[in-house]
Amino acid sequence: MQNIAILGATGSIGASTLDVIARHPSRFRVTALTANRQVDELAELCRRHRPDYVCVADASQGPRLRERLAGAGVSCKVLAGEEGLVEIASLRDVDCVMAAIVGAAGLRATLAAAKAGKKLLLANKEALVVAGPVFMETVRASGATLLPIDSEHNAIFQCLPAFAAGELAAKGIRRILLTGSGGPFRARARKELHRVTPEEACAHPNWVMGRKISVDSATMMNKGLEVIEAHWLFGAKPEQIQVVVHPQSVVHSMVEYADGSVIAQLGHPDMRTPIAQALAYPERIDAGVPSLDLFRIGSLDFERPDFERFPALGLAYSALTSGGAAPATLNAANEVAVAAFLEGRLPFLQITAVIEETLNVLGAGPARTLEEVLAADAAGRMRARQLVARFDSNAA
Ligand code: NAD
Ligand code: MG
Repeated sequence: MQNIAILGATGSIGASTLDVIARHPSRFRVTALTANRQVDELAELCRRHRPDYVCVADASQGPRLRERLAGAGVSCKVLAGEEGLVEIASLRDVDCVMAAIVGAAGLRATLAAAKAGKKLLLANKEALVVAGPVFMETVRASGATLLPIDSEHNAIFQCLPAFAAGELAAKGIRRILLTGSGGPFRARARKELHRVTPEEACAHPNWVMGRKISVDSATMMNKGLEVIEAHWLFGAKPEQIQVVVHPQSVVHSMVEYADGSVIAQLGHPDMRTPIAQALAYPERIDAGVPSLDLFRIGSLDFERPDFERFPALGLAYSALTSGGAAPATLNAANEVAVAAFLEGRLPFLQITAVIEETLNVLGAGPARTLEEVLAADAAGRMRARQLVARFDSNAA
């Protein structure tokens, strides 16, 4: 029996994880659940899954959560605040942590799970993007088992000979082919993107996801973050990672070997597949995902990414090449700009403009320690907020 904590249980990945777990009650037990401030949803999940611990990150919501749980007749230990998240990620009673908080807000709790040597299912890509070296060193030192949940990285993991750190070339690998759907605006001209709304940006053609990652898919910053994620997870150099636009989202990524072999992982675009793969690893279990009907799909298309229409991709490659704090700055500016876009305070095309200017102004400072990473994150957010405010007042 595996005891599982889900950080970000009320989100899209949280829901898919609970769905897979509920299919295998003799294998998995929900030990802890967390959310940001969605108290009613969290209390309902507790009623259904009966965890031992629950945490709401927004500490002011602790009393409301206690009240709701008492009303529903659920008894479990209630924690609140970021310290509560960290405590849950490190609990002795927890074997496996699903890190599914969105954004750098998940960094401390995700790192805590790594430090505690847990089996760590990583969906929270931003944590790895902002703190790559600190994160990977923590995993190495504790002996934690790190399993990627991002569908592309999970696919690559499945196509690799063994999940060991180190040079790709030594394993006979030439390149990683990182696929991406191209998002909802794949076929639109750049000039048509000035006026797109949050609803259009969040209407992803193949995947149902949280709003932040949906906007990231529309700008293709999601693929940029994934390039950085692949670098840290698999030891791939930037020039060994080729982004391939694949509108059907059936091939989830590929690994090309020195002998010319290309190994791909295919499946429905359904996050329950990578989640089940990682939960049961190295075994295989039912994820509730039907067979892939290749006859209905008929053909698979592949295109070169367009760095001019989607400058976010180039910004991510150059942040990775610059190194140091540049990826943390990139991520911080992206989070601020995406939030402003979702609130109607920043036009779509200005998202990448804000990120580019933030990177230009702040450069690549050091990011060898958690303190340096957090400082870079804070500086990136502050600068990006100023840029958004300037845009806001120009528009007014
Ligand atoms: P979501 O917005 O649906 O859910 C986010 C979860 O995090 C919620 O439970 C929310 O309560 C919690 N949360 C938000 N802000 C928080 C904060 N400040 N402190 C603590 N908790 C907070 O997001 P999602 O789509 O489930 O994505 C989660 C992560 O998984 C992201 O990093 C995303 O990039 C990654 N991911 C998602 C998908 C997908 O299909 N949804 C695919 C690949 C990777
Ligand atoms: Mg992905």
